[in-house]
Amino acid sequence: MSTLSARPLRVRKAAVIGAGVMGAQIAGWLASLGIPCELLDLAVEGPDRSRLAREGVRRLGQMRPPALATASAAQRIRPGNVDDDLGRLRDVDLVIEAIVEDLGAKQALWARVEPYVAPHAVVASNTSGLSVAEQVAGRSEGFRRRFMGLHFFNPPRYLPLVEVIATADTDPERVEQVVEWLRRFLGKRPVLAKDTPNFIGNRVGIFALQVAFRAMQEWGLSVEEVDLVTGPVMGRPKSATFRTLDLVGLDTYLHVLRTGRSRTDDPDERALLQPPPVVEAMVRRGLLGEKAGAGFYRRS
Ligand code: NAD
Repeated sequence: MSTLSARPLRVRKAAVIGAGVMGAQIAGWLASLGIPCELLDLAVEGPDRSRLAREGVRRLGQMRPPALATASAAQRIRPGNVDDDLGRLRDVDLVIEAIVEDLGAKQALWARVEPYVAPHAVVASNTSGLSVAEQVAGRSEGFRRRFMGLHFFNPPRYLPLVEVIATADTDPERVEQVVEWLRRFLGKRPVLAKDTPNFIGNRVGIFALQVAFRAMQEWGLSVEEVDLVTGPVMGRPKSATFRTLDLVGLDTYLHVLRTGRSRTDDPDERALLQPPPVVEAMVRRGLLGEKAGAGFYRRS
């Protein structure tokens, strides 16, 4: 792909759907760079139907490391909900979806969103590894042409890697424009990835995490011991194995493991990607990691 001549995408206004761990942070990063951003989540019952999105914005102010580059950036984020506010998508240049890692939920969202998005806008999913093509299999050709995966890594303000996933239907010129925008405007290092389960980063990353679980069990190591040997001593700043899992969210980790298992016939790979029972038990108890206040560690 030639990138020398590509004009970067022009994003005067953006929308992020899903105000959780990733969506709120992506909105925060865009707002920090001066881009007004609609942030939509599920509608809740009661007078403040956009409470979930508001909570997402509030969390940004409390994050360490800071999720907002400037204190005033939060004012550029307008919280809303997907029942009442999809009309706000009409004048945005870029829509980024960051809802739950569930194919059916994403497909249902795209069916609802399609009528509202302007024909020029780029539409992207921040999925960790679900099929990008399958998400929009039922949508119009025009929608599929401007749809792609845009996989930011957590925390998105600090990690430069963004996987860009085009499908057979995605317009290559749009992909080029997005890549240039990520490079020049966001200062990211985009990498083109194929639409295969968990793409590149997570496909590789989950093996190390799963091996750490095995080692812990076989050698009777504690969470702290594993983090000690897989953290700063290996040149990783703070985010060792279990701290990373707390940051990611244990429910999301299970989804990523299931995606990996569902799309491989290799028995060794399937065995290695078996969800650790401890993680399944923690998710059942609501110990999802930082977003829930507790996971392997308690939020201090
Ligand atoms: P999360 O659970 O923190 O947040 C998901 C948010 O989406 C919640 O606020 C939920 O209320 C909302 N939501 C669910 N269904 C919705 C719908 N139909 N419409 C609108 N909002 C809806 O999840 P997350 O960790 O932010 O992950 C979001 C996406 O980003 C997933 O696809 C995940 O795989 C991907 N991702 C996560 C990470 C990570 O480190 N957590 C990193 C990269 C990519």
